[in-house]
Amino acid sequence: MFCPQCGREVAASANYCSYCGSAVLPPPLRPVKKLYRSRTNQKIAGVCAGIANYLDVDPTLVRLIWVAMLLFAGGGLLAYLIAWIVLDEEPLPVAAPVQGAQIAPAGPTHA
Ligand SMILES: [Zn+2]
Repeated sequence: MFCPQCGREVAASANYCSYCGSAVLPPPLRPVKKLYRSRTNQKIAGVCAGIANYLDVDPTLVRLIWVAMLLFAGGGLLAYLIAWIVLDEEPLPVAAPVQGAQIAPAGPTHA
């Protein structure tokens, strides 16, 4: 492993360069993002929500832009259909989220 600051070789187990003192930690491993259609947040086919997940933006914003494209540029519908066909559906989560959290408690809310 080489120091990104001074370029000298440092021990692979070292956290800091012994020559210049700068951190030589490798960048944290980021999961590779893949563009999918969303399973959980879909209005039609999950294309907009999938793109929003990928870009880390609000799905509603993507939908609004898409609708604007549809209305003003005319290409939105075709682009949506192509994205629907081309994009894979999001894989099912490996670890299921907490099941009970989404179930609202039964019973009257008003006295
Ligand atoms: Zn260094």
